[in-house]
Amino acid sequence: LENGKRKSSSAFQVPEPKRLKYGEASRRSELLEQRRSLPIASASKKLVEEVQKNDTLIVIGETGSGKTTRYCKFGSMVGITQPRRVAAITVATRVAEEMGVQLSKEVGYSIRFEDATSSQTKLKFMTDGMLLREALLDPLLQKYSVIILDEAHERTIHTDVLFGLLKGVQARRREVSKVGTDPEAGDQNKQDKTVAKASEHQTQIQSQMEANSRNGNSKIKQLKPLKVIIMSATLDAQGFSEYFNGAKAVYVQGRQYPVQIMNTYTAEADYLDAALITTLQVHQEELPGDILVFLTGQEEIENMERLLTERIAFLPEGSRKILVAPIYAALPSEQQMRVFEPAPSGYRKVILATNIAETSLTIPGIRYVIDPGLVKAKAYNPRIGVESLAVVPISKAQAAQRSGRAGREGPGKCFRLYTVEAFNQLQDATVPEIKRCNLASVMLQLKALGIDDVLGFDFMDKPSRAAIVKSLEHLYTLGALTDEGKLSDPLGVQMARFPLEPLYAKAMLVSSSFKCSEEMLTTVAMLSAESIFFTPREKFKEANAARQRFSSPEGDHITLINVLRAYTQEVEGGQSLDSEAHHKKFEKKLRGWCSTNFINGRSLRRALDIRRQVRGYVEGMGLELVSCGDDFTHFRRCLTASFFLNSAHKQADGKYRALSSGQTVAIHPSSVLFGKKPDCVIFNELVRTNQQYIRSLTRIDSLWLAELAPQYYSTRDVEDAARPTTQQEDFHSH
Ligand code: ADP
Ligand code: MG
Repeated sequence: LENGKRKSSSAFQVPEPKRLKYGEASRRSELLEQRRSLPIASASKKLVEEVQKNDTLIVIGETGSGKTTRYCKFGSMVGITQPRRVAAITVATRVAEEMGVQLSKEVGYSIRFEDATSSQTKLKFMTDGMLLREALLDPLLQKYSVIILDEAHERTIHTDVLFGLLKGVQARRREVSKVGTDPEAGDQNKQDKTVAKASEHQTQIQSQMEANSRNGNSKIKQLKPLKVIIMSATLDAQGFSEYFNGAKAVYVQGRQYPVQIMNTYTAEADYLDAALITTLQVHQEELPGDILVFLTGQEEIENMERLLTERIAFLPEGSRKILVAPIYAALPSEQQMRVFEPAPSGYRKVILATNIAETSLTIPGIRYVIDPGLVKAKAYNPRIGVESLAVVPISKAQAAQRSGRAGREGPGKCFRLYTVEAFNQLQDATVPEIKRCNLASVMLQLKALGIDDVLGFDFMDKPSRAAIVKSLEHLYTLGALTDEGKLSDPLGVQMARFPLEPLYAKAMLVSSSFKCSEEMLTTVAMLSAESIFFTPREKFKEANAARQRFSSPEGDHITLINVLRAYTQEVEGGQSLDSEAHHKKFEKKLRGWCSTNFINGRSLRRALDIRRQVRGYVEGMGLELVSCGDDFTHFRRCLTASFFLNSAHKQADGKYRALSSGQTVAIHPSSVLFGKKPDCVIFNELVRTNQQYIRSLTRIDSLWLAELAPQYYSTRDVEDAARPTTQQEDFHSH
């Protein structure tokens, strides 16, 4: 702004000659016009008819056409999955509002560790992961008559597994309803591949049915067929249709105005800076209309919010003001809803959003989109079995969705912070998540569902054999599978029951033998809650000083335990009752305590909540809860026994090497061990930015690895670990 050089480096071109990009946008609207002349089910009524006629229906419609909020009302119990927690909450809130009912009554939502439903709930929004969990307890998903898999184009791993699972459930429910009247009818469906594949599972259900009918419970016999609706914002209905045995696709009419697309002349080295400058440029030079900026995560959004707030102060006297509205998963839900409120007059709203705003949410009023072309995504290397979170380029399909957000209510503009050449090099479509993440968790769930032949599971896009095998090996190493590849009893069965990643579930289960299950419970809860510490830039020093109080020389896990212990002592008077009512009493005090100690109040509350729920599972399994008190050696040994797959060793040159993968890694600056140079650590997270970082660390004795995980490490491995290595691994992402 006040820097002319920077401003010009971020200037945009409307591509010349022939206004190339603009031409593309027009072709796009031409296509849209054509689509409007297709047989369109624009009315809700017509869609209801189609649902009645078809057991499986594919609904395609531009983002914002009303798929999620308007076409979800199909009578009795309807379950709607969303790939993200934020979407499940905000959309449920919106629909409840539209229907004039109280949230969690007729309309509710269910996400991991948070259930806002009641016995009256007829419309239940949930994350796709939650529905998968429900299938473990209710394999026929009996309480649902309709299941909508929303945002299917996102192809999250859970949605992909649900595709196969629901296909099987449909076949079995059809069969069950036939068996109810004609016992022979079951055989006719034998050709159904999915049914045959899940035959064992079927036997289980069969006996459940028999037991039910013996008890005079005929409920299962009356099961209606399950209706499945696949909702997608992209036009490729064909792939879905082929997979679902030629299911019918209908198109929901949407409106899309032309969006002028602009690219930078040159590549921008610092996309955050470019996004900031562009936001201010648009604000000063363009007509009214809100701005949507796509960023990759909470930290980036908070940074941007601070930078923008600083710059706003320098806006010329009398010009329109800016209202910044962030939205990301960890933001309190009341604040999440704020992005939907119209800006007061005289203000322009600038929404800073993660990928959530790409297709999951439609925010009214947006006329300008700023797209740095990046997204945070999982990347997995099956050869070494390592998954990490990384900021990667989006696909062309995603770029089109993002720019589309600017043309919802009138013509708009999209500023791409990358060159036309860079755009041309993007992949056409995003690779389904199932092909680029660790499969251990879903494989464990499939096994728990009685689907033993996971390699033969009916995936829409099959993950590579290597990736499946690697994840099975991983589960085997953790003791969750037997030599025959079956779920081990009790370890594997119990691991699958926990609503936790297999590694965390394992940690919980072994912790009682290390006499530190109270501490592991806290660790799992605090790690699941994420971002416990709150570090505002302007109070960086104070925040760090406050954190010193909790900091443990042994590492981040014990530091987190110290936070919870201090909270319990100083706020709840030393009594950790793990009850909702008990925590509620300290609501106000918690807020004050968190703000003095630079703790993220919402995260801590969530951690307490998760702790209470995981405790319920632990007690339900009859496991003992014991505390190690102040002797953390047992706890650190327990971490070693649980997370041995993630160990890193200091090399002669001072760098760190992850033992199982051979990758060179660095300690993340957020760790209390940053700069402390411990010899050997175990870690919980791998984050890739400009290099591979490990996060959430605890110092361990490297010899413990061979002692506590002899199935994986020999003493020799551990001794060799400190030698320098030249081995480097490339990371494959999409
Ligand atoms: P789709 O699922 O097809 O992308 P939605 O059902 O999410 O579409 O949205 C339909 C319309 O409802 C959008 O055009 C949007 O303007 C409006 N809408 C959705 N959610 C909200 C909200 N929370 N506040 C205001 N308007 C909303
Ligand atoms: Mg939607």
